[in-house]
Amino acid sequence: MSTTSIKYIFVTGGVTSSLGKGILAASLAKLLQARGHTVTIQKLDPYINVDPGTLNPYEHGECFVTDDGAETDLDLGHYERFLNIPTSQANNVTTGRIYQSVIEKERRGDYLGKTVQVIPHITDEIKNRIKLLGKTGNYEFIITEIGGTVGDIESLPYIEAVRQLKWELGRDAMVIHLTLIPYLSTTGELKTKPTQHSVKLLLEYGVQPDILVCRTEHPLNKDIRNKIALFCNVAPNAVIEARDASTIYEVPLLMEEEQLDVVVLNQLNIPLTPNLDLNKWKEFLHKFQHPEFEIKIGLVGKYVELKDSYKSISEAFIHAGAVNNCKVSIEWIHSESIDDVNVGEKFKGLSGILVAPGFGQRGIEGKISAIKYARENGIPFFGICLGMQCAVIEYARNVLGLEGANSTEMDPKTKFPVINLMDGQKKVTKKGGTMRLGSYPCVVKENTKAWNTYKQKDINERHRHRYEFNNEYLPAFEKSGMMASGINPEGNLVEIIEIKSHPWFVGVQFHPEYKSTVANPHPLFVNFVKAAVEAGKLVH
Ligand code: GLN
Repeated sequence: MSTTSIKYIFVTGGVTSSLGKGILAASLAKLLQARGHTVTIQKLDPYINVDPGTLNPYEHGECFVTDDGAETDLDLGHYERFLNIPTSQANNVTTGRIYQSVIEKERRGDYLGKTVQVIPHITDEIKNRIKLLGKTGNYEFIITEIGGTVGDIESLPYIEAVRQLKWELGRDAMVIHLTLIPYLSTTGELKTKPTQHSVKLLLEYGVQPDILVCRTEHPLNKDIRNKIALFCNVAPNAVIEARDASTIYEVPLLMEEEQLDVVVLNQLNIPLTPNLDLNKWKEFLHKFQHPEFEIKIGLVGKYVELKDSYKSISEAFIHAGAVNNCKVSIEWIHSESIDDVNVGEKFKGLSGILVAPGFGQRGIEGKISAIKYARENGIPFFGICLGMQCAVIEYARNVLGLEGANSTEMDPKTKFPVINLMDGQKKVTKKGGTMRLGSYPCVVKENTKAWNTYKQKDINERHRHRYEFNNEYLPAFEKSGMMASGINPEGNLVEIIEIKSHPWFVGVQFHPEYKSTVANPHPLFVNFVKAAVEAGKLVH
């Protein structure tokens, strides 16, 4: 450990949303990690939902699930993919959660006699949540990303908490402000005024940023950097250019070029460790950017209009593609657009089919048509969560002859409930945080595709679902060729299914995509891509 006290780095955003605070935080963390430091990243979200688990993916993109069963913002997925260390509930805090605990404390009588107010009670709760990760003793650096844009009404208490912490912690805290330098094509100029305004707004709240990271389409020359530094009270070397990158995985290297890590460490008074080792990262990036060939995989889902709904899946394909020296292009296919008649046409040129997770009836029959086609035509198939459940339904209907077989989620009165509610779920009435969530053990059976993939018996994977394979039907399935190749040892729940006679037909009740990282691409994705490559190469 090269530091004596824990350092807190806050990342705020100005001018507009979607500038990439999450990727910036993850990239800085990667650089610090590559210098041998321990670091974690936290996201504070200003909305009132207690967690994003109750949000529709159209609202907020994918809901990312941690080992400890927290339903979190998708930025936590980026943190894990970049750093290769698990996050937890403590890494994502929402306004809803802050207020919930303050109100619980008030009801308990913790503040007896006092008026409970935004300052100090809400801000104290925010500060406690920020410091909680520091108290674990596991990290030298805590990077906290403040969701939203400076000036939003709902993020004010967070900015106030940052102001107070900066005051309390002195040189152990710093603020990095991510901002935009727009380019006016009519005059051919980069404009600094929006950045000046957003820094002024921060100053109004009492926060002086220490570093400005400037998103820009064109290079920032020395004059512009000096101008921004002058107007915003930061050192010229603390004006960091963040050019648009071709992939998020390039950003750590761009930030290294700009010496973001050096400026941060200098300002925090930490000696620079001699070498920054990003070799593994660069190897991955090289493979990703120089594929030998390309394959197309169809992703069948009902939220395909918003690609962020399947963020971890598309990133897992990037990791798995690099291992297989190929580019995986995803063909996004809306499940409602598929039927038994057009499916062959839709899947032309695809080397594999992934049927995505999801909830509810909409699009189910299209998913089932897709699976039938993949099963009958030997096309590599990968079903995740609802995708696995649909594979079970399809097999029940079309191979076992159980007409009308279904999940009780879609048809509570089905004659053949091959997927049904777990006993523990039957009494659940509240929707928030009540699914089977987080990491559970699974035992993999030998001589199966799952075994060939994992090459080990005991695995742990993350879950997010209420419904399960109905074990009453297992003997019938196994007799006709669909095997349970992974079982949860405590509840005897079916976690992996596969078809023996098919080149690659695997369904998993869990979400392997949450565990795929740059350093550790998930073996199921790696093997699925490998099977798809064998099924059909397209020349790059
Ligand atoms: N809706 C299904 C369930 O709750 C599947 C969930 C999912 O795909 N994440 O069991």
